Amino acid sequence: MIIILKRDADPKKVENLANTLQQQGIIIQDIKGEATHMMGLAGDTSHISREQIEANDFVESVMKVSEPYKLAGRKFHPEDTVVEVAGRKIGGGNFAVIAGPCSVESEEQILSVARDVAASGAAFMRGGAFKPRSSPYAFQGMGLDGLELLKIARQKTGLPIVTEILDPAYLEAFAADVDVIQIGARNMQNFALLREVGALKKPVLLKRALSGTIEELLMAAEYLMAAGAKDVILCERGIRTYETATRNTLDLSAVPVLHKKSHLPVVVDPSHSTGYWDLVEPMAIAATAAGADGLIIEVHNAPQCALCDGAQSITPEKFHHLMGRINKVRAAIAED
Ligand code: PEP
Ligand code: MN
Repeated sequence: MIIILKRDADPKKVENLANTLQQQGIIIQDIKGEATHMMGLAGDTSHISREQIEANDFVESVMKVSEPYKLAGRKFHPEDTVVEVAGRKIGGGNFAVIAGPCSVESEEQILSVARDVAASGAAFMRGGAFKPRSSPYAFQGMGLDGLELLKIARQKTGLPIVTEILDPAYLEAFAADVDVIQIGARNMQNFALLREVGALKKPVLLKRALSGTIEELLMAAEYLMAAGAKDVILCERGIRTYETATRNTLDLSAVPVLHKKSHLPVVVDPSHSTGYWDLVEPMAIAATAAGADGLIIEVHNAPQCALCDGAQSITPEKFHHLMGRINKVRAAIAED
């Protein structure tokens, strides 16, 4: 952290601030030029409040030079994290596809889709039992009954379950039955939920908020990790922009940016980011080429009858075709 002082800063006030910081174990380097006076702060500055320092009338501005996410960041953890669930790996060169319907709707539906996506090479199945809908009148998911159906599908196909938690009231059920707990975009900054889910120490799929910056996504991961989670998978699922031709705007550059800043695996959701089934395959291919560690894709056996997100769901046949192309892209971009 660097504190830039005003030219006419009262030396006594500056000394008082320096003493206070030193008492907190911070090492201070005074840098005085002809027109500038700065204080360089070294040591653990994570607990120092930038806003409090900026509240001093003799301070011009404060610059942060190190990232505030120590656990999620690459700086103190240079090697890639590999998340392993039931022998399936994501990260550090391991690629995995999570596929399934937006919502669990019936035993027949989830079983049929899970069987199909497993046969096409998906490593995990997805399916919402608790759905975060914009309208309180829309289908809200099957709840705990949906979780039971996911368990049946896991037992029949061997695919681990990825599903979203909305309410901490169901933490116990998720801890017992869910392999990867999804934090949805709308809850990325639900800090109480992040703390509780992190404390379960289970793998988490953390989706980027609708208007979340990359730093905010990494700080959300930091909440999970500070609470005890180690296996956090980051998910780029599109962000809100002025563009209305797609449901969201897929920020593909988030993939290499996140890889640069963090050791955590990054997956891309071409379904929610585009909103249209015909855009899913091209964006899945682009995400793979951009270096994503995996994809999460909505697949439905009858999209025209889906209770949620039918327009962006692809059929099992289209998923099979997509997987073939993904494998070709992966082979083409593999380093020798
Ligand atoms: C979902 O995965 O079904 C979902 C609701 O996604 P998001 O939180 O990214 O909107
Ligand atoms: Mn959905």
